[in-house]
Amino acid sequence: MATLPSAVSVVEVGPRDGLQNESALISTADKIAFVDRLTNAGLRAIEVSAFVSPKWIPQLKDAADVFAGITRRPGTRYSALVPNLIGLERALGAGVTDVAIFTAASETFNQRNTRRSIEESFATYRDVVREALSAGLRVRGYLSTAFGCPFEGPVSTEQVVALTERLLSLGVFEVAVSDTIGVAHPGQVRALLPRLLATIPSTRIALHFHDTRGTALANVLAALDFGMATFDASAGGLGGCPYAPRASGNLATEDLLYMLRGLNIETDVAIDAVSDAALALAPQLGHPLPSRYTQAR
Ligand code: MG
Repeated sequence: MATLPSAVSVVEVGPRDGLQNESALISTADKIAFVDRLTNAGLRAIEVSAFVSPKWIPQLKDAADVFAGITRRPGTRYSALVPNLIGLERALGAGVTDVAIFTAASETFNQRNTRRSIEESFATYRDVVREALSAGLRVRGYLSTAFGCPFEGPVSTEQVVALTERLLSLGVFEVAVSDTIGVAHPGQVRALLPRLLATIPSTRIALHFHDTRGTALANVLAALDFGMATFDASAGGLGGCPYAPRASGNLATEDLLYMLRGLNIETDVAIDAVSDAALALAPQLGHPLPSRYTQAR
């Protein structure tokens, strides 16, 4: 049996990735309370919102107000997604210290999701990352559809490796290699990770799994065997899957924490406090929380 990492970092994406994909509109005050509860649960990295056009994502139009309202704990990083320089300027105006950029591993998905090609995305992000770094920000990258595309199907390993390297060369500290539609399975994880880790240190790769087909935790377990130690998750499993209505999306944070605790892997996060944070929002979502751990409570 491989030696598992002794500690894992959990990046909480519920307030941004989760709520962005919920049809219910959550009030600014409730979002602030949600982020504060996640902070108090011990999460050290929380993606709070996105500075994108309110026309595209009305759920996150109050990004600046949410950042103004949350209580920031020293040692915890609070990030925002930015699609372009306008978004970066808004983030800077809101006192944001950590931003994230995103591109897809498949051309069709990038076009449909952002109305620009992968090349155009990189042209934009060259400037965004340069400006962000010169302002002293830390920048994370997302590579979506890394395990499959809803329009193109399979995505080549070569493309995933090349785009991850390219994002890192822009100056991002870490790339979240993401299974946007929840098709990844441990066989794919075992095939992709050796290719990524041939040229990239494991400390610069995070994994973002969705549980749409019930494989998210199995994927994490497969990745732990390769020494991977940063995983994205969403409290309560918030977010759903935009490409499979009524299916679950993001891996639930408390489900991940439960498995890690069972493996004696340290996270310093209180599971039930994360579950409570999601439960506080549940009455407004119009559907039960997907998290198995929270359902079992
Ligand atoms: Mg997601």
